[in-house]
Amino acid sequence: MDYDVIVVGAGVLGLSTAYHIKLEKPDERVLLIDKKPAPGQGNSGKSAECFRNIFYSEINTLLADTSIDFFFHVQNEKKFDLGIRKVGYLFLTAEEKSRLFKREHIEKGEVKVYEREDLRKLLKINLDVEGDREAEMLGLRNIQKGFQIVKAGYLSVSKLVDFYESRFKRLGGKTLYRTRVKKLILKPKEELGFPCEPHIWQDAEVIGVETGREKIYAKKTILATGAWSNTLMHPIGLETYMNPKKRQLFVLEAKTKELKELLYSKGFNDEEILPFTILPQPLIWMRATMEEDTFWIGCADEIGRGFKLEDDPKPEKYFYIYGIRPVLEKYFPQFKDQKPVNMWAGQYAVNSYDGCPIAYEENGVIFVTSATDRGIQISPSLGKVASAIYFGEEQVELFGGKMFRVSDIGVKKRKIEYELVL
Ligand SMILES: Cc1cc2nc3c(=O)[nH]c(=O)nc-3n(C[C@H](O)[C@H](O)[C@H](O)COP(=O)(O)OP(=O)(O)OC[C@H]3O[C@@H](n4cnc5c(N)ncnc54)[C@H](O)[C@@H]3O)c2cc1C
Repeated sequence: MDYDVIVVGAGVLGLSTAYHIKLEKPDERVLLIDKKPAPGQGNSGKSAECFRNIFYSEINTLLADTSIDFFFHVQNEKKFDLGIRKVGYLFLTAEEKSRLFKREHIEKGEVKVYEREDLRKLLKINLDVEGDREAEMLGLRNIQKGFQIVKAGYLSVSKLVDFYESRFKRLGGKTLYRTRVKKLILKPKEELGFPCEPHIWQDAEVIGVETGREKIYAKKTILATGAWSNTLMHPIGLETYMNPKKRQLFVLEAKTKELKELLYSKGFNDEEILPFTILPQPLIWMRATMEEDTFWIGCADEIGRGFKLEDDPKPEKYFYIYGIRPVLEKYFPQFKDQKPVNMWAGQYAVNSYDGCPIAYEENGVIFVTSATDRGIQISPSLGKVASAIYFGEEQVELFGGKMFRVSDIGVKKRKIEYELVL
């Protein structure tokens, strides 16, 4: 064997998994492969970079909460700047209640509640859209409340990628970029030398990968190939329970006085900036980026948006013009006549069954993906879970000491909890 383990995919999940394996056992020979020239250039590099510690499912909440503690530990104790901005996550709802939050969240101060008067004062927002003909045509509803998750914000993914990669290499991990894995090498556990092995009566397992140039062998192969996973798993009959879906992001400059005031909204957080804000249906979201005085805006469309793998998905300007803009302008008239100055598109690796991530081992392959809209913010914990699967552990201690049963996000003994995907 050339390596103990090959990790395919140097996005945040592959990086975190490779880093955690080396951290646990520095002697393990770990090779990290990616087809791109550098790490983090797949969908990790296209994200909105946001995090929050409260989800609908307990699994996602635990994975995110412990990961965020890890981010703060890296930045504050290890003194590795991740560019964290704890700006909060503000859900503006058309109902008095939100399904996402429990009373304890509010009592413990984990979620702040804003009444209509507060929102009117803090944001120059149009709360009352009902009665407007256009707004009714768009199916928009008045905003009744704001719920702000406090342990939430954004960070720099490129810095996070640097952290994982530099620490992995410092621990002796090897990287191989510009290398596309063409297929997984499947062999019988006991080779007999017959043609076309493995046969139906043989136990088979993956013993490495084939690239355009060579075959590389390892005791285990970890696939952290995100949206591309079906291209390697399906040809050998392994399931991913994942489908890729395009997601887009539009950048608007805070050029006018009104937009600057909105960007630097006071009263929500110590950064004195607009929190990551989500409007009521159709759940348009907006991130205020203080480093560049811009708003990053997007919306996860479901019905009508097909599942399809795209290597280089393109943003659609009409998605902004006819989809997002009319809704956004009704609530925030400050955006009237503004045009995106930049836009890009990536893909979610979606588990559309329960919306929670998947990590499991089968026939020598450990598969870790389906992080849907939250791979960045759960990457430390999910990487730790994948590393525990590699070491054959049933439980893993997440950052901060909380225990997690790895089979909860597996397939056969999965703990099924549904997530509300944004
Ligand atoms: C527009 C958008 C906004 C998002 N916003 C957020 C957010 O705010 N917060 C959040 O937490 N998440 C967000 N996400 C989701 C997040 O980006 C993903 O969940 C995360 O990046 C998944 O990481 P990954 O490592 O699984 O995938 P990737 O980063 O895509 O990594 C997979 C890697 O595998 C490599 N690869 C694939 N096939 C092969 C092969 N055959 N050979 C070699 N290499 C291969 C690819 O080159 C790639 O580098 C967003 C995503 C998008 C598209």
